[in-house]
Amino acid sequence: MVRVALRRRRVNRVATISVHTSPLDQPGTGDAGGMNVYIVEVAKRLAELGIEVEIFTRQTARDLPPVAELAPGVMVRHVTAGPYEELDRADLPGQLCGFLSGVLRTEAMYDPGRYDVIHSHYWLSGQVGWLAKERWGVPLVHTMHTMAKVKNALLAAGDRPEPAIRVLGEEQVVEVADRLVANTAAEARELIDLYDAPTDRVAVVNPGVNLKVFQPASKGAARHRLDLPQDAHVLLFVGRIQPLKAPDILLKAAARMVEQDPTLRSRLVVACVGGPSGNGLARPALLTDLAAELGISDIVRLAPPAPQHELADWYRAADITVVPSHNESFGLVALESQACGTPVVAASVGGLRTAVRDGLSGLLVDGHDPDTWARALGRLVDRPGWLDFLSANAVRHAVGFGWSETAACLADVYAGAMAQRQWAPVAVNS
Ligand code: UDP
Repeated sequence: MVRVALRRRRVNRVATISVHTSPLDQPGTGDAGGMNVYIVEVAKRLAELGIEVEIFTRQTARDLPPVAELAPGVMVRHVTAGPYEELDRADLPGQLCGFLSGVLRTEAMYDPGRYDVIHSHYWLSGQVGWLAKERWGVPLVHTMHTMAKVKNALLAAGDRPEPAIRVLGEEQVVEVADRLVANTAAEARELIDLYDAPTDRVAVVNPGVNLKVFQPASKGAARHRLDLPQDAHVLLFVGRIQPLKAPDILLKAAARMVEQDPTLRSRLVVACVGGPSGNGLARPALLTDLAAELGISDIVRLAPPAPQHELADWYRAADITVVPSHNESFGLVALESQACGTPVVAASVGGLRTAVRDGLSGLLVDGHDPDTWARALGRLVDRPGWLDFLSANAVRHAVGFGWSETAACLADVYAGAMAQRQWAPVAVNS
């Protein structure tokens, strides 16, 4: 007799959708940031678990190959949709049909059922994932990365609010996604409270840090390589230069510190690593202007976006990494710095409350008043003992966040979504 049993299908291959930014881009400028790092790190770790990943992204240059291997088991597929150049994010909704058609055409070249699950990143990709999921009959797992409603509620002065079309688009994705991945429990709460996400479809998966790249090493050698003075107090900002990240708060706080203790002028260095992005305070040149206006040009050093192995040197060279963002879904920079043994002074917002352990691996600061930031930083700069204590705990805290764990948790989320959607019937002899 032949019985029909139900066997849970294994996750073999994931279609990852990243419409507006390519995993091959250098993070730290334009639209490339933490999401790019996340997609690359997770894809590599999933591949190590035996799950292939194909990342669909928009072709932004004519000479990009249709398919590129990022790592064994990880392919990047460049989809033609719109011109071969960067497009403003506001123009991308008009290219989603073209992008989707490219994604569907790719799958049609192979056997049906090439992908077991779709993982979309950011709402534009969620829109593509929505239709692909209906066409392929596979579950859609979506990660927001940032949410318009949260961003608009915490807008920096002069920053542009996110448009209503994005809010609507995000609400649609939340409604159709089989699983929503939140970076932290707080973000899960926001999805439920602000977007009416069903509780049982929200999974919390912490992002990670590459502990091979970001690990403690000699501060002196790092300063030597970066041409930073050995005896200075180095305050570091890393990230895209945009109003949301608030590098201006660090500069204003540093100016206050120097004003209150003029001897600091010869001992303080403020380093900002990153490139232009978004609007408002988007160009590093504007930071140069601000430094001049504040009378601290002599202590401010701006550096272009750096690859991660170089960034590790910047973290090691710094005494404190400062993350004054108005909002962060997580804040990978905070984790990377701690993994290198450098404590973080961060704004008490969003994921930074998880990324930094207040009083143990760094300090969390309420609000964005430069005086408050100057006080918080001033409390630390002349206390090497306290910095050493925070530094040791920072490393301990960061090693709890590995990308392998992130990938393993995501694999569970994929499997759970698939189990709910499709059970493959198999014949069993008895
Ligand atoms: N980054 C980089 N080079 C730079 C500046 C930033 O590689 O010059 C990377 C950094 O290592 C981090 C990411 O960009 O992994 C920024 O992520 P985060 O979550 O801090 O901010 P987001 O860009 O997501 O807003």
